[in-house]
Amino acid sequence: MSAASRDEGRVTLVGGGPGNAGLITVAGLDALQRADVVVFDRLAPLSLLQDLPARLIDVGKIPHGPQTTQEAINDILVTEARKGQHVVRLKGGDSFVFGRGSEEWQACTDAGIAVAVVPGVSSAIAAPELAGIPVTHRGLTQGFTVVSGHVPPGDPRCRLDWSALARTGTTLVVLMGVKNLATIADTLVRHGLAADTPAAVVADAGLPSQKVVKAPVADIADAAAGARISPPAVTVIGDVAGLDLGVVGTD
Ligand code: SAH
Repeated sequence: MSAASRDEGRVTLVGGGPGNAGLITVAGLDALQRADVVVFDRLAPLSLLQDLPARLIDVGKIPHGPQTTQEAINDILVTEARKGQHVVRLKGGDSFVFGRGSEEWQACTDAGIAVAVVPGVSSAIAAPELAGIPVTHRGLTQGFTVVSGHVPPGDPRCRLDWSALARTGTTLVVLMGVKNLATIADTLVRHGLAADTPAAVVADAGLPSQKVVKAPVADIADAAAGARISPPAVTVIGDVAGLDLGVVGTD
């Protein structure tokens, strides 16, 4: 779990789960309560921060707004740990599912700082689940594939094979895909995914503002835009999005 350190300072990467304070693990909560410094951003379950004795550093990244660069975040982690502090980097979801937690880990080990990770509940699974959508369901799908939609299909930076994704037969779970949802849905349909495949967008999962929009994949981008969906949101594409489990509400 940890690397050798030159001093007592250390870093713990904590996955806080999406939105709701109840979705952090016992180990994650314990690390937060013992932290000297907590470095967090806007996707972290912010209500957890209220009564902590730790010093709080907001490195919030607002989409398309002013951003703290990853390098600056890495520097904060290393600099604070070098002062002998126990630094907790609190994320929404899981640290190793997008969000660059593994780069933070590397930055710490490169600097000789001890680093540990407490896995979290990823929004890739929890956001659909909070909306009553299981990412797998016996008889419907035997798997799920999680991808980032932050770079649209067709963009030179895109390293995903969207034609292959259209044919996986797995549920597709798209994170960071609100802006590019129309392009993503069009591309999947153009590559053979049935236009009437069920899809759902779950925004602000785990928060009182949680919103769910469902439509066939061919219409999901219009439906999301019509409902004024904004990030953070997870999109689920596949037969599971059409299941009605009879969910009556979340706590
Ligand atoms: N490490 C995180 C994901 C970071 S990428 C995790 O495991 O959940 C950021 C993306 O996560 C957002 O663009 C959105 O797709 C998703 N996300 C995070 N929190 C969310 C929430 N409360 N509701 C819906 N989606 C969320």
